[in-house]
Amino acid sequence: MRSVDVVIVGASLSAAAAAKRLVDAGLETIVLERKELPRHKICSGILSPRGHRFLLENFGPLPRETLHEPTSCRGVTFHFPSMVAMPMDFFGGSTPHLHRKFSDYWAIKSSGAEVHDRTSFAGLEDHGDHVLVHARQQGEPVEYRARQVIGADGPSSLVIRSIYPDYPQSIPWFFVGQKFHDIIDCPLDPDYFHFWFHPGLGHYTWSHARDGRQIVGVGFKRGDNFAKKHENVVNYLAEKHGVRLHPHTEDEGCAENFGPSLINRYVFGKGNVLITGQAAGFLNMIGEGMSCALHSGAISGEAVVEARARNRPVQEMYRRMIASEVRRTSDQWNPLKIAFDRPHEADFPAALMALPWRDRARVLRDLWRFVVLYKEFKWGRQMFQAAMQRPILGGYSMQRWL
Ligand SMILES: Cc1cc2nc3c(=O)[nH]c(=O)nc-3n(C[C@H](O)[C@H](O)[C@H](O)COP(=O)(O)OP(=O)(O)OC[C@H]3O[C@@H](n4cnc5c(N)ncnc54)[C@H](O)[C@@H]3O)c2cc1C
Repeated sequence: MRSVDVVIVGASLSAAAAAKRLVDAGLETIVLERKELPRHKICSGILSPRGHRFLLENFGPLPRETLHEPTSCRGVTFHFPSMVAMPMDFFGGSTPHLHRKFSDYWAIKSSGAEVHDRTSFAGLEDHGDHVLVHARQQGEPVEYRARQVIGADGPSSLVIRSIYPDYPQSIPWFFVGQKFHDIIDCPLDPDYFHFWFHPGLGHYTWSHARDGRQIVGVGFKRGDNFAKKHENVVNYLAEKHGVRLHPHTEDEGCAENFGPSLINRYVFGKGNVLITGQAAGFLNMIGEGMSCALHSGAISGEAVVEARARNRPVQEMYRRMIASEVRRTSDQWNPLKIAFDRPHEADFPAALMALPWRDRARVLRDLWRFVVLYKEFKWGRQMFQAAMQRPILGGYSMQRWL
């Protein structure tokens, strides 16, 4: 059995950031990844400026193979049923359009950690002074012994389920699916990620250019028909935006733990097991998760290093250090912050004020109608309650974290 300082589960961006901190501090670190690397990851790949800075500062300039075409993104355009469009450029200019298969591989290799791919985490036993990790490597059982384990295994985290079997039932779940189309004619600006606040299209609707094709994506709840939702969006884009696409050639989808940051149900682990990245609940508004995966991952690695240096319980260090990232993510949903501050990385208030006043009123009305759509969910009502509390409590309260 291999004995190391830390085992990280998952070889994505949060894992790369955690591994970088641990390896830099001289801790022997193994990353387990269930897939063969480099592996595919469903993602639009639109990196926020903060995520971009993190990659540059920690791993250096991105190699060309880590980017899709167009290689960068200027920002986000919001579309409304009243046909008002609001393009918003990222603060500080365009950011890279990541090809996750290769950017994640580059980051994890650059971290300096030892990576065991085709190795699936299966369970763990926390014995207080060490954790026993059970995994399967190409089907064969394999065990590791580590002082700490970091679960960086994404939204459907098995590490979480191994310590909190009931957690998945306590948070909102959502499904997303996207289809890839060859383009006949597409007037949507390829330099932007496009998002529709349209109750008639669904809870989450987006489109953007990638490698000469157009992606059309929809979010939906369990039991909804993905094909029908998608067809509805394609017809809408044709009718309202003049987008003409060939039938799709590929499609993909997955379940998302969309909402822990919205209703403040983060999970950070217990004992010697830390949870980070999207597994912990970090996902920014409109589904941007890379920047908070990178930052929370780095904090989980730092917490392990600090706990050892100060001889303190690792959970105490992690919870203290992660508070800044919780505040940042939760502030994105705080209506007062949105109205009077800049919690996002593109300037919504400025884009709104640049519109004629009639359009401003239309946007606010359309936004309200869109948000009301979420009231049908139990957690949608929790979201409303949280939104009412946020201005008073400052966006988060510690006691709801696990
Ligand atoms: C359709 C879609 C579009 C998105 N677009 C954007 C975007 O444009 N910009 C953005 O910032 N974010 C986007 N996101 C969100 C973003 O992809 C995630 O938030 C981010 O990748 C989370 O990173 P992570 O490191 O926490 O985990 P993940 O990227 O989910 O990685 C988890 C890793 O763990 C591995 N793993 C899982 N289980 C096991 C196991 N049992 N054993 C071993 N390994 C395991 C997985 O194979 C994977 O490699 C999008 C998400 C979706 C679904």
